[in-house]
Amino acid sequence: MSKLTATATCTAHGAIVEQTGQVVSQALLAQRVAWLTGLARELAADLVAGRWSAADLDALASGVGLDGRVLPAKGWMAARRLGWGVSPASGVHVCDRVARCAQEQAARLLRLALHRREMVAAIVATWPRDPGRRTDAEWDALRAVLPDGAGAAEVRNRTRQIRAYRDKHDGVLPADLTQLEGPPACASQIVLAAADRQLATLERTGERSARLRVKLPLTACPASARDWAWHVLPIALPPTVPAEAKLCAPTLRVVKGRVRVDLPFQIPIGFAPATGHVIGCGFDWGLNAVLTGTIGHLTADGRVVSDGRPLAYDAGGVSAKLHRLRAEREHLAAKRTHQERLLAGLTPADARFAELATAWEVISVEHERLCARIRNLNKALAWSAARWAVDQAVAAGATVIYLEDLATLEARGRRGRANARLSGQVRGQVVEAIRHLAARHSIAVVTVPARGTSKYCPRCGDGTSMLRHCPAPDRLAERGWAWAWCPACGLSCDRDWAAAERILARGLLGQQATRTDRTTGTRTIRKVVEGNVARARRPRKATRAARRARRTRTDLHPRPEARDRAKNRPTPKRPTRTPKNSSMTSSRVPDRRTVPAPPPNRGGQRPAGQAPQTTRPPAGRTGLARDPHHRTGFHRVAATPVLPLGPYADGPPRPRPPDLPEILG
Ligand SMILES: [Zn+2]
Repeated sequence: MSKLTATATCTAHGAIVEQTGQVVSQALLAQRVAWLTGLARELAADLVAGRWSAADLDALASGVGLDGRVLPAKGWMAARRLGWGVSPASGVHVCDRVARCAQEQAARLLRLALHRREMVAAIVATWPRDPGRRTDAEWDALRAVLPDGAGAAEVRNRTRQIRAYRDKHDGVLPADLTQLEGPPACASQIVLAAADRQLATLERTGERSARLRVKLPLTACPASARDWAWHVLPIALPPTVPAEAKLCAPTLRVVKGRVRVDLPFQIPIGFAPATGHVIGCGFDWGLNAVLTGTIGHLTADGRVVSDGRPLAYDAGGVSAKLHRLRAEREHLAAKRTHQERLLAGLTPADARFAELATAWEVISVEHERLCARIRNLNKALAWSAARWAVDQAVAAGATVIYLEDLATLEARGRRGRANARLSGQVRGQVVEAIRHLAARHSIAVVTVPARGTSKYCPRCGDGTSMLRHCPAPDRLAERGWAWAWCPACGLSCDRDWAAAERILARGLLGQQATRTDRTTGTRTIRKVVEGNVARARRPRKATRAARRARRTRTDLHPRPEARDRAKNRPTPKRPTRTPKNSSMTSSRVPDRRTVPAPPPNRGGQRPAGQAPQTTRPPAGRTGLARDPHHRTGFHRVAATPVLPLGPYADGPPRPRPPDLPEILG
């Protein structure tokens, strides 16, 4: 049994001072927490700025303290072993635990910077001839020295940053990250994970509630220990925190006058093995859709058979919106830069200065808001797509999800430019979200090499017969992108679907070569094993009426009894409907709707990515109840419905889908 950590964002709406029983309102509590986070931020920012040098980062990266022992994993302990202390301003009394929290925050920031430093060093060491486009040899050289987990988008952004530095400094490349950028900004927050019971305690008081005790300052500049008091903060837990979850020490921050409690919790999860998978899902980063997938299984004789159903999560509308927002962000940023340039040339005494400064402020606020909007939309889209993908895997009884390795994706050149609609950053978020949600269902997530997945035919499978890409199935002779056609075997299908089938085959056939990263636990297949993918449709699960007909041995479609055609009675009159107001309506006009009524909108819209795309089954029944609308949380997303299908004709019996409480838990 391993553990999965997630974070619930809760709000503290008030508190009680423990000693006096005084009730503290939300506004006052927010002020006191803001004082505490402000004190911690100042200490952390001082420490980060003071240690922002190549020598100090080297010391941290070496992993060995002043006493020659290996540095501990906890940030504040590592900082103390290195002799990196913090000193509060004179006259301010800050207990040692607050200093610890500040050291923890600073150490986390500096350790994150170590990764960026490695990236910069690797890119500078293998600086390409043309920074806008690396050759295959240059990519290989770069990959050999890049730190683990470096994505293509990260490489591109860092390369741009270094190029800007080089252009500004007469062709000299930066020697270190500390030359390239200033010390990172510290957020106003207090990381209570570094504190102990002298600063904060947390206990769960019920299924939906917890109690946080924390020592807060009573003034902005506490002069002595008397200016600190224990506060009890009742916290309501969201329903995403299961009853058996273990709560960890939270982080406090103040957002818009409210105290936010970022509460990490751990839940036990089952083990997802690296090998031995029979049913799996393959997903491709689509050109036509965000994700395109296929479900398949490995037969007893080692062939891959897909169930012949393309799965697509098409967020074209949302992607277009993101594209527009990004363009507007660039526009605002350019405007702001221009205003800054104009302001630099004016003195505050100038009559135009005040007006320009106001305009600059307005544009800055607008820019911030736009950035937040893009960030939120990206996040919602990523989680919605991940939820859909994992739901598909659960419904199919799959034990593994195969994805393309993002690190090898960019090297394919053309594709990166063609699919600019979905940024590489969102893809990274989708992968992270899929990993998290899949872990909850004990489904393994494995990345496979991306090279050549959409180039060769999945049905021929030998890795030699090239697919031709054309605009549509009826324009096979033209050159295009959306459709794939194999002249050798005649396969004609959506290009992303063909790629998803090849990803699935590479995963299921190459699972013996799966490697698990020791520190992150991520699973990767680096070896390319090719094989063809057959398509065999699986029958739809029999409907309830069909099952009842089989059980009771009755006809599924009973026909009315044959009419007695003997002329032994008067011909009966056809029943006629008499309209209520015959002068208004003619019998020739049908008095029923010619357009089907819209489906009832039950229960409103749910937020993206929160719960499985299913509704609760009716009372007294278990199992998956299907949601006919398959809500994704977006209006303009078309996603393939999540359907549980019947067993494979030649494959293993399909495992029973788990009960809903299990999934929700
Ligand atoms: Zn073929």
